[in-house]
Amino acid sequence: MDCVYCGSSRIVRNGTRNSLQGLLCRDCGRQFNERSGTLFAGMKYKPEEVVFALRLRFIYRLSSREVSELMAEMGHPVSKNIVLFWADRFHASFQELQRRYRPEYSGIWHVDELHVRLRGGKGYVYVVEDDHRNVIALELTERRDGEATARVLRKAEAEAGFTPDVIVSDGAPAYPPAIAEAIPGARHVVAQFKGAQVSHRGRLVTVSNNLLERLNGTLRGWVRTLRGFKSLVAGNRALSILQAVYNLLRPHQGLGGLTPFQAAGGGGLTWDTLSKILPTAL
Ligand SMILES: [Zn+2]
Repeated sequence: MDCVYCGSSRIVRNGTRNSLQGLLCRDCGRQFNERSGTLFAGMKYKPEEVVFALRLRFIYRLSSREVSELMAEMGHPVSKNIVLFWADRFHASFQELQRRYRPEYSGIWHVDELHVRLRGGKGYVYVVEDDHRNVIALELTERRDGEATARVLRKAEAEAGFTPDVIVSDGAPAYPPAIAEAIPGARHVVAQFKGAQVSHRGRLVTVSNNLLERLNGTLRGWVRTLRGFKSLVAGNRALSILQAVYNLLRPHQGLGGLTPFQAAGGGGLTWDTLSKILPTAL
């Protein structure tokens, strides 16, 4: 490897620390190792351990206590608090991952909300998903109203970079005015389980909220392991990790065991490669 500070290739070995090979640059005289300048610099844990703990937490939806117990049994003791800290420390990396590998969203979106616990009281997570199972936006809010709906739709539009043709909802009264206000160019279709037929780019497409209901099941199970959210900021950070995990890293039964990212032709992004991608993600 070249010097992380000056780029020189005149590098010599220089002892070991934390079982990592130390390196010394003969041009600028600075010392470094393979993790210098990455998110994992100075951590006593290996990137693989961090990534594995995050995988247990976000794919298998174990509580931080369960992750800690399981990792200890496997010979990698980490405390429950460190697991929580990692989730918070790495949330920006997951956002960057989502930006870098942004899915190609379709023009048919679904919007829905689910009840969660927020600071011991009531809260709502608004969800916008496309009909290819990509999560376009998630937003934790205190209130369930048109304002919150409009906010998550604008967030989804900013994320996708375009205006959807169709927005599907369950027809709750707050939706029509909020959709008309936030995304006036979109057609609002009400569809529940039985579905509705929509003509979209010259084709007849059946839309229903089944997909969203399944996503909501995953979200609900996950929120349950968190026992709700402690604050809007912490909650929305956690949701941004979940969005990247859901879109890029979580295999779906309905997609033959592929992630939506792989199903759309994206390869190479797996939990195994994550520990190498995350360090450079920021
Ligand atoms: Zn150097």
